[in-house]
Amino acid sequence: MSSPEPAEAGSRAYGRLTIDTAALVANWRSCGARAPRAECGAVVKANAYGIGIENAVPALAEAGCRTFFTAQLAEAVKARGLDARASIYVLNGLLPGAGDVYAAHDLRPVLGSLDEIREWSAFCAASGWRGGAALHVDTGMARLGLRLEAAEALLAEGSLFEPCLLISHLACADTPAHPLNGRQIAAFHAVRGLFPGVPASLCNSSGLFLPDDLGFDLTRPGIALYGGNPTPDKPNPMAPVVTVEARVIAVRAVQPGESVGYGATWVSRSPARLAIVGVGYADGYLRAGSSSDDYDSALAYAGGRYCPIAGRISMDLTTIDISALPEGTIARGDWIELAGPHLPIDEVARRSGTVCYEILTSLGSRYHRIVPPGGESR
Ligand SMILES: *Cc1c(COP(=O)(O)O)cnc(C)c1O
Repeated sequence: MSSPEPAEAGSRAYGRLTIDTAALVANWRSCGARAPRAECGAVVKANAYGIGIENAVPALAEAGCRTFFTAQLAEAVKARGLDARASIYVLNGLLPGAGDVYAAHDLRPVLGSLDEIREWSAFCAASGWRGGAALHVDTGMARLGLRLEAAEALLAEGSLFEPCLLISHLACADTPAHPLNGRQIAAFHAVRGLFPGVPASLCNSSGLFLPDDLGFDLTRPGIALYGGNPTPDKPNPMAPVVTVEARVIAVRAVQPGESVGYGATWVSRSPARLAIVGVGYADGYLRAGSSSDDYDSALAYAGGRYCPIAGRISMDLTTIDISALPEGTIARGDWIELAGPHLPIDEVARRSGTVCYEILTSLGSRYHRIVPPGGESR
């Protein structure tokens, strides 16, 4: 994956991603400004939300980010290869029997069960490793993390395990009025009381935009760094990071009554012109964005206008209705925007019945990835 791409890769590609690391850094800085007394970390799980961990980690580290969160151990090993000094946490915890891998790469598991704590403590006692681990306490997500009572029991039994960071995760931070937010925040304050002096971290991206100051010692923004809207009911305060473009393979005309694509779900009502682009659901351009006679879904931005998808998105191809553009505007070989400055990822997600997280993390491996230089200057 890290081998240099041949110079002609761009000219051979049917899809390309442009990754604006200057916007990534600007987003990280503006997340940091929302909790000025806390350290601002960065969540780089799932290949840095699709943009490439090798693009995200060096740019953020250069900007001053000192703490990264991954989901999986292999991602953390990769992040360590990109930054020798940062604190790197593995949110999915301790993979059974893998203590030596965490130690070898100086990685910190986020422990979320008594089993994990016992295994980690035994590993540290046997190996002498003192690299630290975080403790995840569940305050209401009921996914990972020790329940409050279990944390109390752990302390009562005199456990020697001392976390270097205490975390919990908000389930409804993107819905400020949700009553679970208040309950989780109160529970987190209670948990902190059990671990005096241990640095604490609660906020994901949306948590930074809740009315209370929830920065604590360290924040964990993810989606906001990559341009997703952390305030779904309000305009997006973040800058777009990713532009997705598809190459036109063919332009063709259809007559009224002709159908387009699998299932013949879209039938032309008038003489129409179509652009066929070489990106499909195998590239993560979700099939749920297909359109039919009955409903409109995803849009493309071509020739300065928004053009609807015609019919089903297929594996390697998508058909775009460019009838609204003057003839000759779009030609074979042209690039058409599927997401980016004119088509925010949140809007693409809405039209495909999903969230921008899934749009970004689905971006496939066939795209030619372009990272313009100068990401650290902004
Ligand atoms: C994914 C994740 C985050 C980041 O969430 P965003 O909504 O992308 O900001 C923070 N903390 C934990 C535990 C996570 O799993």
